[in-house]
Amino acid sequence: MAPLIKEISEQTGLPWFNNPGPFKSTKGLLSGVRDGYLVSIGVVGQGMKECICAVIRFRRTADEKALLASMDRFKSFTGGGNFQLQGQTLVCTLPKPIQGTNGQKITEKLDQILRELALRAQPFDPGKCEGEGCRNEVSEITLINGNANFICGGCKIRIAGKQEEKRRRYLTTPSNYLKGFLFGTGGALAAGAASAVLSYWMTDDKGMMSVKLACILPFGIAMAAAFMVKRGIGKISRVSTLTAIIATFLGILLSNVLYNGLVIAHLKHLHLSSQLISWVLNHLWELKWYEFGKLILFVEILSIFGSAHMLWEMRPKFPAAFISIGAPVTTHSGMVSSAKVGF
Ligand SMILES: [Zn+2]
Repeated sequence: MAPLIKEISEQTGLPWFNNPGPFKSTKGLLSGVRDGYLVSIGVVGQGMKECICAVIRFRRTADEKALLASMDRFKSFTGGGNFQLQGQTLVCTLPKPIQGTNGQKITEKLDQILRELALRAQPFDPGKCEGEGCRNEVSEITLINGNANFICGGCKIRIAGKQEEKRRRYLTTPSNYLKGFLFGTGGALAAGAASAVLSYWMTDDKGMMSVKLACILPFGIAMAAAFMVKRGIGKISRVSTLTAIIATFLGILLSNVLYNGLVIAHLKHLHLSSQLISWVLNHLWELKWYEFGKLILFVEILSIFGSAHMLWEMRPKFPAAFISIGAPVTTHSGMVSSAKVGF
């Protein structure tokens, strides 16, 4: 367990689970009931950008706008905290203490947020299902695709049924290859042109530019291609990944031709004419072999085929995964719970 998460667990009394939870983090999640609210805490982001994220769930609120507005005062004192409200869920992103671990400070902030929340949001009824109109008994927390819920067996079946219906509808959607290809190519060419212009700006008068930047840009083109194919194609099939590969290839080709054209025009004091472009196209292979060309070519090939993987990973995820993490540990703000903390 990460030291800060361990400290927060000790301070709040919320137990740790080795599950990515809603944070999709390898550091796991803390989850349990605090002041009647279903609270999950974890780490989001990576490296220097890590933040503590608290997902607080409640039964209902009369006024979502007022609830969200009431969180404004925590923004300043947390030094730029971020709050989002989605239905019965308040997502609080709090900056991580800069030095060392400081679970106590995080816990104090969390408790202040909970007390403010209590003025506008009703906590869950202990032991009851949170499903619309459902009063069944619930004794455990269920993670639905990582999100903590109080949900009964019947409601699980209902949700699973709805997901199955969505999945069936998706699978019967036809793949529009032409539209996917046109969208993907459009996205890749736009990203390729932007990449060429950006590279040109970053090139010095000797015709040199940052190798790191040159290695990142092809992935950007692949990402743009995959994203746009997804928007155009309808259902993402195995075959549709080919459209992303071709679109990325075209985007990277445009980026190379345009970039070399711009640099040569600048160095030789020429205009970027169709003649110059066709000369670059014919000599692209020699131009690419210059300096770090081999490395960049390798990255480009990786990006071209990587776009297929990116697109494949963009398929909607069905069905919902239900994971029970056992009976909730109940804690209260302002005091450490005496409940057993499972380390
Ligand atoms: Zn239910």
